[in-house]
Amino acid sequence: SNVAKIMFKTAKEALLASNPAAKRTLGTSRKAQAKFVSPMLGAQDKQETVQPEITDERLKHIDPKMIELIESEIIDKGTPIGWDDIAGLHHAKATIQEAVVWPLLRPDIFTGLRRPPKGILLFGPPGTGKTLIGKCVAAQCHATFFSISASSLTSKWIGDGEKMVRALFAVAKCHQPAVIFIDEIDSLLTQRSDTEHEATRRIKTEFLVQFDGAATGEEDRLLIVGATNRPQELDEAARRRLVKRLYVPLPDAEARQQIITNLLASENNDLTPQHISEIANLTDGYSGADMKSLCSEAAMGPIRSVPLSQIVSIDRNKVRPVCRQDFVNALQRVRPSVSQDDLGQYVKWNATYGQGF
Ligand code: ADP
Repeated sequence: SNVAKIMFKTAKEALLASNPAAKRTLGTSRKAQAKFVSPMLGAQDKQETVQPEITDERLKHIDPKMIELIESEIIDKGTPIGWDDIAGLHHAKATIQEAVVWPLLRPDIFTGLRRPPKGILLFGPPGTGKTLIGKCVAAQCHATFFSISASSLTSKWIGDGEKMVRALFAVAKCHQPAVIFIDEIDSLLTQRSDTEHEATRRIKTEFLVQFDGAATGEEDRLLIVGATNRPQELDEAARRRLVKRLYVPLPDAEARQQIITNLLASENNDLTPQHISEIANLTDGYSGADMKSLCSEAAMGPIRSVPLSQIVSIDRNKVRPVCRQDFVNALQRVRPSVSQDDLGQYVKWNATYGQGF
C-alpha cells in the first residue's frame, strides 16, 4: 500500500480514494461526541483490498519498488522547520526567502528575469544548519522535502544509484512543489576521473541529465538544494549549474546564545540569561551541531550526580536541574569540531565564488 500511498499528495486524497463517502464530512465541523476517525486509517490499512490505480504517466517507467523506497527513505516527513528554529544566519535566511521561497509560493509573478534559480548551493562547515535551511524552505513553501546524501547513491543503493536518481526526479516532479536536498553534492558534481568506478560515473552522468532536464517548464516548481562542506572540490561546470552559492558560517555568539536557550527550553534548568550569555562567549568556534552536543553533555550532569544505586528507582522530579557547572564540565569534554584551517578555506572560497545572489 506504500506504492499506492505515494500517489496521493495528501492524507485527504488518500482518504477520499479509500472511502469516497468521507467527502461529505470533510470540512464540516465534527460534533463533540462524534467518534474520531483518523484520516490516515484507509491509507495505513495493510489489509486494504482496493489498490488505487497508478495513473501518473510520468511514473509509468519507474520501478514501483524504487517509488516505495523514495517514499519511505527519502521523503522527509519530520516536524516542519520554521525560520525561528534556525539561529543566526540572518543574511542567508533573507536571501533565500527572496530568491527561492517567494518564487516557489508565487510562480506567477516570478517569471522572466525574476525566474528563480533551478539549484542553489549551501556551503560551509558541517553542522551549521544547511540541512535545517533545506527543510525550512520546504516547510515554508508547503513543498515535499526529498533528502538524500550523495554518498548513499554510491554506497547504500549500490548498483541502483543511477535508477534511483531517475526515480527521485520523476517522483519529485509528481509531488510539486518539491525541494530536493542533496547532501555532499560535491561528490556528484566533481570532475569525472578515470579511476572511479563505472557505476559511480553513470550516477554522475544521470544526475547531470536529470538536473539539466528538471524544472524546465514554466509550471514547474522544483528546487534543488545542494549542500557541501567541500566547495573547493566543485568544478566550473558545477558552479555554473549552482548559480546561487551561499555561505553558511559558524554561529556567532548571539546565535549560540539562541541555540542554548532553545535547547534548554524543554529541560529543567536553573541557568540565568547571564549564564547563557557567558557560555555563548566561551564557545567561539563551535558549530550549531557542537552546541547541541555540548547541551546534551551538560544535560547528563544531573543524571551523573544521582548515586548509582538510585538511578533505576529515582523519582524523575528528584533529578536536580541542569546548572552552570554542568556546562563548565561539558566544555572540557565537547570541543569544537571545525579547525581554523578549514574555516579559512571557506572564507576564501566565499570571497571568490560565494553569493551569486
Ligand atoms: P549541516 O550544515 O551539516 O547540514 P544540520 O543542519 O544538519 O547541519 O545541523 C545539525 C544540527 O545542529 C541541527 O539539527 C541542529 O540541532 C543544530 N544546528 C546547526 N546549526 C544550527 C542553527 N543555525 N540553529 C539551530 N540549530 C542548529
